[in-house]
Amino acid sequence: MDRVDCVVIGAGVVGLAVARRLAQAGREVIVLEEAEAIGTVTSSRNSEVIHAGIYYRAGSWMARMCVSGKHALYRYCGERGIPHKNCGKLIVATNAKETEKLQSIKAHAEANGVLDMQLLPGEAARALEPALACDAALLSPSTGIIDSHAYMLSLRGEAEEAGAAFAFHTPLIRAKAEGGTIEIEAGGEAPMTLQCGLLVNAAGLSATTVARHIDGMPIDRIPPAYLAKGNYFSCNARAPFSHLIYPVPEPGGLGVHLTLDMAGQARFGPDVEWIETIDYEVDPSRAERFYPAIRKYWPTLPDGALMPSYSGIRPKIVPPAVATQDFLMQGPRDHGVAGLVNLFGIESPGLTSSLAIADHVAELAEI
Ligand SMILES: Cc1cc2nc3c(=O)[nH]c(=O)nc-3n(C[C@H](O)[C@H](O)[C@H](O)COP(=O)(O)OP(=O)(O)OC[C@H]3O[C@@H](n4cnc5c(N)ncnc54)[C@H](O)[C@@H]3O)c2cc1C
Repeated sequence: MDRVDCVVIGAGVVGLAVARRLAQAGREVIVLEEAEAIGTVTSSRNSEVIHAGIYYRAGSWMARMCVSGKHALYRYCGERGIPHKNCGKLIVATNAKETEKLQSIKAHAEANGVLDMQLLPGEAARALEPALACDAALLSPSTGIIDSHAYMLSLRGEAEEAGAAFAFHTPLIRAKAEGGTIEIEAGGEAPMTLQCGLLVNAAGLSATTVARHIDGMPIDRIPPAYLAKGNYFSCNARAPFSHLIYPVPEPGGLGVHLTLDMAGQARFGPDVEWIETIDYEVDPSRAERFYPAIRKYWPTLPDGALMPSYSGIRPKIVPPAVATQDFLMQGPRDHGVAGLVNLFGIESPGLTSSLAIADHVAELAEI
């Protein structure tokens, strides 16, 4: 049986960042990916926003990884010419109660180390965005957008330059962990068995399933899995905004917000739809809830402008009744299995945090 130093399961943005990090540390790395290419699942079904780190619970992994990951990502993109834009975001209040809330959002962001937020009266916000209806706004200057595919191609290229190999159409079927060695059985077009000293489970929506197929992994350390779909609508009218526009968050979600892609095209969403099985179809009737929400801050949104676009699915590890979750990143000290790192619940801000998560995986694996 062939033996390699490290195996990474999944070539989404997180698996790619981990593979690069381990290979650049001099480790021999193979990435097993069941799809035909990198980044075909959640990593290509998101908002491509570089998040500032405003809302996450202070001290949570999400808060810490987002803030350090954001700085690392801007540096990474800047040094390599990866298309990105530090366009900023406005959180808009459209009544007195929401205006009051902006102050506490700012304080929360500051507790997370996001120190550049600016409270703006309505007039100042409209000086930035003349089409905006709002009483007041909070400007987050460090929010931005990124061409996530260019970023993933770069991570893959650097991982390969450092010696990492990729096997596509190669799903992990099962593994067995014993005495610091993990034996892997992979299927697909060229089934193989492999031994490794480090297995990183970066399988996104399938991370809990993969963990359950690792003989030796204590079942009580594997979190439950839930699916929360986020639907997007594109806009066939030109949206007259250059910042990302978010309403004041409501219980259970960030509200219907506007993000821009690198070409300046606006999209609205994602909303939150709890589902039982994976299904990426966008139900056009959900637009009915989007129009009134968007018109609170963009009153001139024309009728019929919203078109069903795409969706992504959040790999939840807490049920709908629990408002927030955190990344669950387990190393040998957490589950007792030598040579195994599991990455569970890597939903937003996983793209922003990817470089920071990769550093943390190296720490968990003591590399
Ligand atoms: C609607 C939505 C919007 C989001 N917006 C943002 C945003 O604006 N900014 C941000 O920072 N984050 C955002 N995120 C989060 C971000 O997209 C994810 O955190 C990130 O893409 C997760 O990457 P990943 O590599 O963990 O998972 P994935 O991209 O899902 O990759 C996992 C890979 O594992 C492979 N795989 C699965 N099972 C196996 C197996 N058995 N064997 C081999 N391979 C396997 C899959 O094929 C897949 O390629 C958003 C997420 C969603 C759902």
